[in-house]
This record gives sequence, structure tokens and C-alpha cells, in this order.
Amino acid sequence: MTKRTVYMDHAATTPVDPRVMEAMLPYFTERYGNASSVYRLGQEARKAIDGARADVAQILNCTPREIIFTSCGSESDNLAIRGIAFLNQGKGNHIITSSIEHHAVGHTCEQLEKHFGFQVTYLPVDKYGRVDPADVEKAITDKTILITIMYANNEVGTIEPIAQIGEIARAHKIPFHTDAVQAGGALDLDVEALNVDLLSLSAHKFYGPKGVGVLYLRRGVRLLPTQTGGAHELNRRAGTENVAGIVGLATALKLAQEHREENNRRLIALRDRLIEGILSSIPDTQLTGHPKERLPNNASFTINYVEGEGMLLGLDMMGIAASSGSACTSASLEPSHVLLAMGIPPEVAHGSLRLTLGHENGGEDVDYLLEVLPGIVERLRSMSPLYTAAS
Ligand code: PLP
Repeated sequence: MTKRTVYMDHAATTPVDPRVMEAMLPYFTERYGNASSVYRLGQEARKAIDGARADVAQILNCTPREIIFTSCGSESDNLAIRGIAFLNQGKGNHIITSSIEHHAVGHTCEQLEKHFGFQVTYLPVDKYGRVDPADVEKAITDKTILITIMYANNEVGTIEPIAQIGEIARAHKIPFHTDAVQAGGALDLDVEALNVDLLSLSAHKFYGPKGVGVLYLRRGVRLLPTQTGGAHELNRRAGTENVAGIVGLATALKLAQEHREENNRRLIALRDRLIEGILSSIPDTQLTGHPKERLPNNASFTINYVEGEGMLLGLDMMGIAASSGSACTSASLEPSHVLLAMGIPPEVAHGSLRLTLGHENGGEDVDYLLEVLPGIVERLRSMSPLYTAAS
């Protein structure tokens, strides 16, 4: 077996597409103007930002004024949640979210609860990680000022019933935010069809650069800026614009959405081969997330009697980059809050493995993974007292 280099962690980040890179490069060198400057160099930068804004707006089916460029998905989530919460304190203090959100949403809600007197409902999910829209409706009170539920989960890939939740939010006249960071390159982003009022995106998840994001804010919905200073982004987000990054984001989003169907078809075929291969070759293994309503590139599992960390190291030694749903890497040995919310016991949740495919992966990468993973799991299990006791 020849050792290869295989990247299967596209939910963490993606390489920048060469076409995106090419579009960005002039804005680092000859077109380096500040978009707020009146002279030609500045106005060139302004034009580039305006063009990018129009492109993003077209994809989201909104107007350019409804697009706010930010520095990342986390900032978009923070601006949406804090911005709505702080402006509406007079109306109410209740926020509805789910128990499987990314920390950019979850920790923001927790901080509002702990330090600013807000009350947050963390809705449960079913065993596939789906929020029930009926639970959203039941949780609404006359103090609810925001509902924030993610479009697709970053660990298990489950797609949430956003349009249905949006309908409920609209009927109750409550602003609805969705964290679409994992959905950006793979799912439909039409904000009218989705019934959303705020939506977050991050370029580095769809072959754009790191450090640039979008917050869509529906006309008529107001928020309190969290970053104050100049009048950038129509007074909603101060700070000199990241011109190259914004151009890169728009180019990457256009490419991703233009080729969405063909890319998804290819990825789904690879993903399903990966899922079937792993489930059939490794005993005591379960698919996590929804069997059908899942991101085209996400294959995630729990593998009993092994630690996710051990598998990652074993795979890395074979040149494969993968991820574990658990937060073990950040020194806390807590299993993933997402898997726990799905009712998976902690000892099983410790053995999670997330493989997320992308443009560079082909069938030979899937074959290679299927060739090496069973041996890695077998070796780890042979050292596990729990496995010995169970077998
Ligand atoms: N939301 C989700 C669902 C994510 O997966 C991520 C990143 O992994 C973020 C938010 C944060 O995005 P960024 O890395 O751009 O801050």
C-alpha cells in the first residue's frame, strides 16, 4: 500500500480555488485603494465591493443593501444574535435556538443569558439531529425576540427544516436567523424560499479565503451594530473593507452555486460509497446524522470501543486528514454536545469520526480510506479493555 495525502476535512476549511485566487490578487497589489477614498484608486476598490455585493445578493435573491460583509462566519453569527438581542431589549428577552448549534451561536446565546439577563430556550433534536418545527412554535412566548437555528450541522451534516421554521417565525413576527456556514457551497441560499430574515456565510467553507463572511439582513429588520466606528456597510459594521477577501468570497460563492448540482451529484456518490464501505467493513459502527437529509459531502460515524483522537492520529500517520466531532483536541475531553443532544451515550460519542469530502477527492481517495481505516480501528480496539470485555 502506498501512502498518499488525502484531505477529508472540508467542513473545517477548504483550499482556495485558483480562479478565486486570481480574482483576488490585483486587490493586494495594484488595486490596493481604500474603498472610502474619493480618488480613482479608492473608487476602483468601491466598484469591486459593489460588484461583489450585487453578485452575492443575486445568489441570495435579495437586494445588495441587505448584504453585510464581515470578517468570518463567527462574526456574522455574533452580529445577528447580539445585534437583534440588544436592540430589542425593550420588547423582550427571550431567544430560541437549538442544542446542536456551532459554538459561534451557542456560546453567544450562553453569554447573553449569563451576563445580560436574556433567557434562552435550547430546543432538543431527534436521533438524527433534526429540530421539530412544532417545538419551535411551542417555545415562542410574548417575550421572544429572536429565533436562531442552523441550516446544516457542521458535525453530522443534518439539514434542518429551515423554511418551515421560518414560516412559523414569520407568522409570529419574530426575526429568524440561520447559520448557513456549512450550507454555503452545497444548498440553495434563496432567502425568500427559506423564509429567513438573517443568514450567515463564511467564504473559507466554499473554496474562498479565510477571514471573510456575510450576514444577510432583511430590509426592515434592524440590529444594533456590535462593531462601531466608520459608516461602513451602511452603518451596520464598521471597519475598512477587506476588498480582496470580499472579491474572493463573491467569486467563490458564484462558482459554488453555478456548479452546485453537478458537484453535489458527484459528492453524494462518493459519500455514499464511503458510508457503505465503512458500515460494512467495521463492526459496531453507526452513521450519525440524518440518512437522507444530510450535506452531500458529510460522512460521519460513531465507532464503538475507540477514541476519536486515536483514529485521527492513526489516519494522519497514513496521510489522511479527518476530524472527530468531539472537542478532545481542545484539551477538554468532553464529548460533542451535538452527539449528546442526539441521545448518543458519552462513551459512544467519544468514538466519533467525521469525513467531509471536497473537489480534490476522487474514488481513489475513498478506496484508500477504506483500505486503511479498518486496520487502524482493529489496532485501537485490540488495546481497549472495553472491547476485550465486550468481545
Ligand atoms: N457556523 C458553523 C456551522 C461552522 O461550521 C463554522 C465554522 O466551522 C462557523 C459558524 C464559524 O465560521 P468561521 O470559521 O468563518 O468563523
